Amino acid sequence: MRRLFQYIKDFSFWDLLTGLGLTGRYFFKRKVTVQYPEEKTPMSPRFRGIHALRRYSNGEERCIACKLCEAVCPALAITIDAAPREDGSRRTTLYDIDLFKCVYCGLCEEACPVDAIVLTRNHDYHFENRGENILTKEKLLAIGDKYEKQIAADRAEEEKYR
Ligand code: SF4
Ligand code: SF4
Repeated sequence: MRRLFQYIKDFSFWDLLTGLGLTGRYFFKRKVTVQYPEEKTPMSPRFRGIHALRRYSNGEERCIACKLCEAVCPALAITIDAAPREDGSRRTTLYDIDLFKCVYCGLCEEACPVDAIVLTRNHDYHFENRGENILTKEKLLAIGDKYEKQIAADRAEEEKYR
């Protein structure tokens, strides 16, 4: 009997008609897909995308080479070397983040006492060559310079909920 029903289903294109019925039902409904990258879905100000190092408004880098971010990173993705500058202030001479190791937990951002290392909203980045997974200090500062306006706005938004 079961086999007979199966034959009837097969010859009446039951599965095909069920699928077309479903398509027809959603055809006139409001579309929920977005045409990325031209269109983007709303994003939280706390989104954890690619990292950046920030500067103060006078151009001075914020990072004071305390190494808290390096110590707290669970993935050991951050490598820092530091030395005093001529003016006596302590600054990093090397600040690398290995994006292959990073798990985007945001702990580095949380640990930083001067809001220097942050995770930006930018998530659409890629690598084409070996070694590009290492974000150097220069690259991190360049990302910070590029997205500073957005980063500052996101921090201000976050402060409202603290
Ligand atoms: S986001 Fe997390 S895993 Fe990535 S560098 Fe920061 S602390 Fe390490
Ligand atoms: S980014 Fe912040 S936590 Fe990391 S070394 Fe610099 S000041 Fe310290």
